[in-house]
Amino acid sequence: MDFEPVIGLEIHARLLTQTKIFCGCSATFGAPANSHVCPVCMGLPGALPALNKRAVEHAIKASLAFGCTINQTSIFARKNYFYPDLPKGYQISQYEQPVASKGLLEYGFGAVQRRIGIVRVHLEEDAGKSLHSGFPDSDRKTYLDFNRSGVPLVEIVTEPEMNSAADAARCFERLRSVLMAVGVNDGNMEEGSLRCDANISVRRVGEQALGVKVEIKNINSFRFLQRALEYEFERQIIVLQGGGVILQETRLWDAEDGRTYSMRIKEEAHDYRYFPEPDLPPLRISSEWIEEIRATLPELPEVRRKRFVEDYGLPENDALFLTQSRELADFFELTATVTKNAKASSNWIMGELMRKLNEQGISVAESSLLPYDLAGLIKLVDAGTITIPIAKVVFDKLYASGRSAESIVQEEGLGQIDDEVELERIVIETIRCNLKAAEQYRAGKTTTLGFLVGQVMKATGGTANPKLVNNLLRRLLHDQTLE
Ligand code: ADP
Ligand code: ZN
Ligand code: MG
Repeated sequence: MDFEPVIGLEIHARLLTQTKIFCGCSATFGAPANSHVCPVCMGLPGALPALNKRAVEHAIKASLAFGCTINQTSIFARKNYFYPDLPKGYQISQYEQPVASKGLLEYGFGAVQRRIGIVRVHLEEDAGKSLHSGFPDSDRKTYLDFNRSGVPLVEIVTEPEMNSAADAARCFERLRSVLMAVGVNDGNMEEGSLRCDANISVRRVGEQALGVKVEIKNINSFRFLQRALEYEFERQIIVLQGGGVILQETRLWDAEDGRTYSMRIKEEAHDYRYFPEPDLPPLRISSEWIEEIRATLPELPEVRRKRFVEDYGLPENDALFLTQSRELADFFELTATVTKNAKASSNWIMGELMRKLNEQGISVAESSLLPYDLAGLIKLVDAGTITIPIAKVVFDKLYASGRSAESIVQEEGLGQIDDEVELERIVIETIRCNLKAAEQYRAGKTTTLGFLVGQVMKATGGTANPKLVNNLLRRLLHDQTLE
């Protein structure tokens, strides 16, 4: 009998605030170790936390984007455990009463539409970072950086409703783009801005009851998420088919070996002894504030994706790609509005522009190219002023210099040669220099035409109108006087 996986995700997303959640320290990433710390985030006795309003606003924004109900009263609790990067001995988190519950994440690709329930969204503080490597004495010592201690996070918990590893990866991708679209998270998984814990159990197809779940912790890429879940699915099936039982445990993904391994089993799991944080009053959120925030929500990626297909006639692939971030989608829309040629705009963005951005390792927001400049180039192609190969050369110059496509073409004489008299002269000269090829063509070897077209293009630096060249060649090749 066949098995199917059942998957639920828990995602931690750093909220983009200037300061930490309970103190005034900077929350920016990448500062020298332990330069953003104070008595509150170092957990010194007597230091009192004060809640960052912007963090709450971001949590509400994210929750609304997932269609959650905002709970007008939520409670911070102490989650007690000992770890060196947790100086207070407890993490302030929300437990029984989170800031939001019951939402929905929609994601789709063509005919495949998925709706995954969001169980809850809660606010919490991040812990510090243990540095186990990178120092001369790392074999003996672990260093601690508390800059991250107290950075605001939301944890988003989905229902166990995904039934394949690929689905889970897509869900995580969509979740990321929603968080980025509403501007609460930068989506940077390498810097740990977004981390995913995946829960997976298996059951026989057709069964309703859920199997025992295994949690795979701290996955920081879509590919790893998919691979870890695929591995774990196979592993659990093998255990069950061998007559074994699945232990409820926490596992880690080893990307090098391509397998998961056990970190701890349920018996070793912490009893966190949650209790309400005595230093913080219940968080009360007014309905006016919720509505104020709701009014600032932009169009969400899933809605935009569908609109790109319907309004611009884009293929599903293009629409999905372009809506992965708000900046990219905005860039496309601005370009397409000017060019009135959506598919060409999409092609240039997904092709040449992405190539450049990947080469430089930057995002479209960080590049200096403007949609209007790209549109100018596309219009020159559409008007027949330049050929596509020339346009690619112009694009490189445009990207590097910020000059307009038009001025590059004009100043460098890259415009397409449409002048028939001029082209005829070049074509005749090309035939005279390639008499053997011309003879072969007349003898029936028509493929030599391509070669001759290439020679003309070479002679004109790629600026000849290819259609004209073809016509001229076909006509003049039969002109025996040329020999
Ligand atoms: P815990 O109390 O262990 O944290 P939760 O019920 O809070 O468990 O669920 C945590 C995550 O695990 C959620 O994302 C949920 O969707 C997922 N989950 C719960 N039960 C299962 C199961 N049997 N199989 C797969 N995922 C599950
Ligand atoms: Zn601090
Ligand atoms: Mg839980």
